[in-house]
Amino acid sequence: MEKQNPFVIEAADVKSMISNGFKTPIDLLPSLVPTAQALARPPISRYHVGAVGLSSDGRIFLGANLEFPNLPLHHSVHAEQFLIANAAANTSPERPVRLERFAVSSAPCGHCRQFLQEIRGASEIGILVTSSSAAAAVADDENGEFRPLRHYLPHRFGPDDLLHKDVPLILEPHHNGLLLIDDGGGAAAVENGGSASGLKEEALGAANRAHAPYSRCPSGVAVMDSKGRVFAGSYLESAAYNPSLPPLQAALVAYVAGGGGGYDEIEAAVLWREKGLR
Ligand SMILES: [Zn+2]
Repeated sequence: MEKQNPFVIEAADVKSMISNGFKTPIDLLPSLVPTAQALARPPISRYHVGAVGLSSDGRIFLGANLEFPNLPLHHSVHAEQFLIANAAANTSPERPVRLERFAVSSAPCGHCRQFLQEIRGASEIGILVTSSSAAAAVADDENGEFRPLRHYLPHRFGPDDLLHKDVPLILEPHHNGLLLIDDGGGAAAVENGGSASGLKEEALGAANRAHAPYSRCPSGVAVMDSKGRVFAGSYLESAAYNPSLPPLQAALVAYVAGGGGGYDEIEAAVLWREKGLR
């Protein structure tokens, strides 16, 4: 039997956790933050960040920070980005994710406050910062209180400054209309050629789910580990451009969430990307 993804708690399991003493799913969020922190992989900073979000369908999603030694720091994944990429990978028209609130161990950085703007109704997402030092740093904050994202980022710049209101945002269904072409076109990087076709399809699927309304250059990455397991991730853009989450990082989020081991166990990778602005 497949090991359960520790970064997704199904609604039925959330309900049973509530019957074990917590009053509501909201009460569970801060209590799960240390669990999320323990899943972080921050070999550079040793600073473990955990984020735990509640969707309106009762599911709980976890996120943790990832750092990669010997690479520029901007390749890092913040816990809030992990949370959103994880939720985006688990949303579907049948089971949409609507992130209502999340608890996080440290105050969201400016980069994440901006990245979160790509979610419909972002300003109203409730955020609880659980670390006492962070709470103390905000003079008017009170322990245990969720505050809306607009409290953390007033005077926002976001998708509504650049996009028509009908353009889908992160966590909303995307299909970018990319098609598989038999000649191998579109696969920019392939190793381990024998397994490339399945990887290409996974990368293509991820590219079709990508949120790339600004560049109109959707992309996806699929990676395969030494056990033949495949993990895919979609590019997630930000209206402010720089906080965008590249598809490799999204694939590594899927890799970590799906029980992947060390990164040296990744044996093949495919990047699928649209060639350019249409
Ligand atoms: Zn951040």
